[in-house]
Amino acid sequence: MITIIFKAVEKCNSNCVYCEVIAKRQNAIMEYGLLKEVLQKINDYLVKYTEEEINITWHGGEVCLLGATYFLKAIEFLDKYCPTTKKRIRHAIQSNLTLINEEIIDAFKILGIKTVGTSYEYIPLDAILVNGSINTKAPHCEWVTHFMTNYFEPITGLMMR
Ligand code: SF4
Repeated sequence: MITIIFKAVEKCNSNCVYCEVIAKRQNAIMEYGLLKEVLQKINDYLVKYTEEEINITWHGGEVCLLGATYFLKAIEFLDKYCPTTKKRIRHAIQSNLTLINEEIIDAFKILGIKTVGTSYEYIPLDAILVNGSINTKAPHCEWVTHFMTNYFEPITGLMMR
């Protein structure tokens, strides 16, 4: 299966020190016209190669900055421009989890998304040293607990509804 890492948004609500998106500061969201074109091309490909499937991994930046409206528009385009192939287009999400809400999860479910990918690269403030070396002994358990309690557990609950 082909996987497309689909960067529909090049901005983020976070500010990770190592992030290319933050460094570039483009603040761009893919216009609906281009989204439509991409889905039409995917449809053309799948019409031609009838055994193929395509996985779209929605990525950013932070993908939830697109909001539920954007995902609903994508669903509308899939119905309109990929009527016979949309069942062979799978969707996945990579998010920092901080902006996920009930409306977005409802849109994810229509897209058939059952899991949300995330990553956690903890760099505590006191571990970023001026001379460039990282203090790997800095404590981070508190932040992990915060992450699990505030983002991970509520989102898991919403996905399981
Ligand atoms: S959460 Fe991801 S996209 Fe956002 S600033 Fe951090 S690394 Fe970059």
